[in-house]
Amino acid sequence: METLLLKCGEMVLKGLNRNRFEERLLLDLRRRLAPCGKCTIYSGQSAVSVTPACDDFDMDRAFEIVRHVFGLVSVCRSAVCEKDMGTICRVAPEYLRDILMGASTFKVNAKRADKRFPLTSMDIMRELGTVLLNHYPHLRVDVHDPEVVVTVEIRERDAFIHGPALPGAGGLPVGINGRAGLLISGGIDSPVAAYMMARRGLSLRAIHFFSYPYTSPRALQKVQDLLHIVERSAGHIPLTVVPFTRVQEEIREHCPDALSTLILRRCMMRVADKLAWKDGCHALITGESLGQVASQTLFALGITDRVVDMPVFRPLIGMDKTDIVAIARKIGTFETSILPFEDCCTIFTPKHPKTRPRIGEILEAEAKLDLDTLLKEAYEAALAGKYMGDDTAKRPGVSDTFENTPESPDAE
Ligand code: ATP
Ligand code: MG
Repeated sequence: METLLLKCGEMVLKGLNRNRFEERLLLDLRRRLAPCGKCTIYSGQSAVSVTPACDDFDMDRAFEIVRHVFGLVSVCRSAVCEKDMGTICRVAPEYLRDILMGASTFKVNAKRADKRFPLTSMDIMRELGTVLLNHYPHLRVDVHDPEVVVTVEIRERDAFIHGPALPGAGGLPVGINGRAGLLISGGIDSPVAAYMMARRGLSLRAIHFFSYPYTSPRALQKVQDLLHIVERSAGHIPLTVVPFTRVQEEIREHCPDALSTLILRRCMMRVADKLAWKDGCHALITGESLGQVASQTLFALGITDRVVDMPVFRPLIGMDKTDIVAIARKIGTFETSILPFEDCCTIFTPKHPKTRPRIGEILEAEAKLDLDTLLKEAYEAALAGKYMGDDTAKRPGVSDTFENTPESPDAE
């Protein structure tokens, strides 16, 4: 019988919280593996096994899914059998046929999590090694640099036999550290920030500021596509879209050009803070990186943070763009992020933004706006799902929502 053998990561170190962590992980696995068919998920001794409980369980799909689940350090497909040396020696040659036929050297590695097992690790290695050599005479044992390591694990309930494991997604099970609001643009950085914080056990609620018709429905679709990619690891991420056209136009009309981006960012943070709080979030996440653009200087970030009441997590703060791009490629968001749809931050970008703004001049400029009303309207419209510039509530997630809407002037 084949099973998935998954090793838990850092969470096994967490002492008394361990049960809670394990429960989260199992809940997550159960939910994600449901589309693959019926299976039994069992956890014990810092590992989880997923065993099919129906004939048509989709093992390939399940394996693909668990590779992205946070909280696991390694994942592998494994044979599972009775804890009996005769059975192990019968199952192993058959189960490992393909990988052993393709190799010329191997070694056997044995782990006894069940210390009551009558044979020592050395005995297991020697006995199974001999059996494999008899079955596959082309093989040679190489204990220093083998092409294939065959692992036998004698665990609490069963024995597991497998070849090499793949690294898991690492981190902590999603949700064990609470919930945070993610400010997502369509760029490279924010999906990476989302991935990194979900990997630390946060469950995410996404917020996107949308300036229709300056930004097109396709830009919004791109944000949703990015979220879907991150969801493979982070679980479901509900999205709230905030109509920000009016706010941007008012800033452009009434505030000095050089301060407009920073004022816009403060407006975003104010609304995000409220939406996130209402959704049970206790932090905000952005994709900002120190000095990347004028609104991300030390001074600008300080001024931005004055308007929020919760911690702002910026996991990319100390990273170079090349490092960020490398992660974006690894998690699969890069290709979508570089699609050329404009974001609301870029359309009104001033030519010479101030990099050392003073709080006094920002407050003075903001006083020219009726921020209370403007931001309240944006907040309420976001909650009502109205962000396309008319009275019809439109919800993202239904793809044909976008097909019947006029293109933005920019997109033509
Ligand atoms: P990204 O950071 O995603 O690559 P970017 O670098 O173009 O896009 P900036 O304009 O530098 O983004 O904005 C910095 C951060 O502000 C983003 O990482 C994101 O967290 C947030 N942000 C920017 N634009 C939006 C938006 N339209 N809606 C929600 N959040 C946004
Ligand atoms: Mg950025």
